[in-house]
Amino acid sequence: CGIIGHIGTGNALETLLTGLENLEYRGYDSAGIAVQNGSGIAVQKRSGKVDELKNSIGDRHIEGNVGIGHTRWSTHGPPTDENAHPHTDDTADVAVVHNGIIENYADLKSWLRERGHEFTSDTDTEVIPHLIQYYLDAGMANEAAFRRAIDELEGSYAVTAMLDGEHVLYAARQGSPLVVGVEDDEFFLASDVPAFLEYTDTVVYLEDGDVAIVDEDGVEFTDLAGESITREPETVEWDP
Ligand code: GLU
Repeated sequence: CGIIGHIGTGNALETLLTGLENLEYRGYDSAGIAVQNGSGIAVQKRSGKVDELKNSIGDRHIEGNVGIGHTRWSTHGPPTDENAHPHTDDTADVAVVHNGIIENYADLKSWLRERGHEFTSDTDTEVIPHLIQYYLDAGMANEAAFRRAIDELEGSYAVTAMLDGEHVLYAARQGSPLVVGVEDDEFFLASDVPAFLEYTDTVVYLEDGDVAIVDEDGVEFTDLAGESITREPETVEWDP
């Protein structure tokens, strides 16, 4: 139901948890985060409130400059810890959060199963990290693999993904909102502006069919075919 992402100079964890709390008004049944800590992607997720997610983190050391977070409103599979987002591929090299519904997920899932992929959740979402991994394994570059996987999806989605070992967030939307926030060398991604409004009011809205690639140097927009497109930043006026 709600997405948050962060790339910056500090630890992403705090920004993600604040973002998830700011998105609570949208309603949700589970929450989770994934942060890159330099030696793999650390995922923590729980059914229940953001407070329960925070408690479950406890003393676990989760640190990294790049991260994604999610509040889930279940459509496929009950609100369990396993079904909470982020979802990863078998090797946890790719982590994905998703709002919306992937209508052709059953076909994609059996296609991936035939190719040796194993699934751990009941969600439609889990096919996305597996598809990205499939195209990476097939030799595609990261950006191309992301776009190719997104191109396979039918339905409505806002998706944000990160790959282990690089400081990049990949985002795409079709029918569900997604917005990038920019503040110097800090970048945010969210399904709605209030998620990051305390950090920046400079935003760029994605349009349907857009892919955004966000790294420490800026934001690049393309269509699903990889053609460059221009999206202008704007300043939001928001009455909290
Ligand atoms: N369809 C996905 C799920 O059931 C995402 C739901 C959402 O938008 O939160 O996990």
